[in-house]
Amino acid sequence: MSVRTRADLASLPSYVPGRTIPGAIKLASNEVSAGPLPSVVKAIAEAATAVNRYPDNGCTELTGRIADKLGVPVDHVALGCGSVTLCQQLVQATCTENDEVLFAWRSFEAYPIVTHVSGAKQIRVPLTDEHVHDLDAMAAAITPNTRMVFVCNPNNPTGTALRTEEIEAFIAKVPRDVLVVLDEAYKEFVDDAHVPDGVELAKQQWAAGHDNVAVLRTFSKAYGLAGLRVGYAVAQPAVADALRKVYVPFSVNAIAQVAAMASLDAEDELMARCRAIVAERTRVRGELLAMGFDVPETQANFVWLPLGERTAAFNEHCLAHKVIVRAFVGEGARVTIGEPEENEAFLAAARSFTS
Ligand code: PMP
Repeated sequence: MSVRTRADLASLPSYVPGRTIPGAIKLASNEVSAGPLPSVVKAIAEAATAVNRYPDNGCTELTGRIADKLGVPVDHVALGCGSVTLCQQLVQATCTENDEVLFAWRSFEAYPIVTHVSGAKQIRVPLTDEHVHDLDAMAAAITPNTRMVFVCNPNNPTGTALRTEEIEAFIAKVPRDVLVVLDEAYKEFVDDAHVPDGVELAKQQWAAGHDNVAVLRTFSKAYGLAGLRVGYAVAQPAVADALRKVYVPFSVNAIAQVAAMASLDAEDELMARCRAIVAERTRVRGELLAMGFDVPETQANFVWLPLGERTAAFNEHCLAHKVIVRAFVGEGARVTIGEPEENEAFLAAARSFTS
């Protein structure tokens, strides 16, 4: 007799991480290409001497630092082992079987997975033809079973971003017992003043008595700590408490906590890096447009090429040029903005793509 695992998992697609191929340029996972700052490496090395001890389960010091930075009380912040884990915790905190989680599609690949694994039902609402969240259709898709809505802003993989008034108008239509989660994994790359800072928007909503808004942020992207797995949610205390209830003990490790604090200490330098990436983003998009590619305006550290049926061929062509992009076969390719020379290698590959 063999062990009986959940039958429904057989049909669940696994999360597909970006590929790594020795010698190739990886522009597939929206990472920052520059390595960690020396000050962060030093803090990591120091923390490594104490790994015989469990980490601080409450991430007390880091929580305090984040709360201070954002101007919210500490009970509004919950840490997680990367914001993807917080996505799962949010579903677990709000849904029981057959409750619904609503999100745009295409959006972050983990939303369907964490929803399904948690026993909830996913409701996907297609993006508009302009690759943007269709907030009217999303509001119309809310049912009495809806418990949570993910709004990925800027959206992965399209890079498109919603404006303040669009999000506010959407929240006004959502019942107050349904949690709206603004996933801001790419927030630090936003340079359009019309795109809100989700935490500031949430504060205004809370002040107006709308407690059902939460924000997700991560140290994986702009802060360059993808390998250490640390992210956070900013929410009303009842939601943050629920996140702590479903937190797997000690999941944010000691080195991640220390590295996140060292990164907050080095924030000016890290944000300067983000601005350089944003300048490269403008250049790369401009060149791609000049080559004749359709590239929606992006506010993240990647560009989206909606190549449809040509996606697989584009992917193979880039691989042949030793550039790894992220292909969603039949839909498009997402390409991370890297260092200038990495972007040049990608642009050279794109220029010679003819099919
Ligand atoms: N949200 C979005 C929109 C993302 O693209 C990602 C990473 N790809 C995450 C959350 C999760 O990031 P992490 O778990 O590394 O914090």
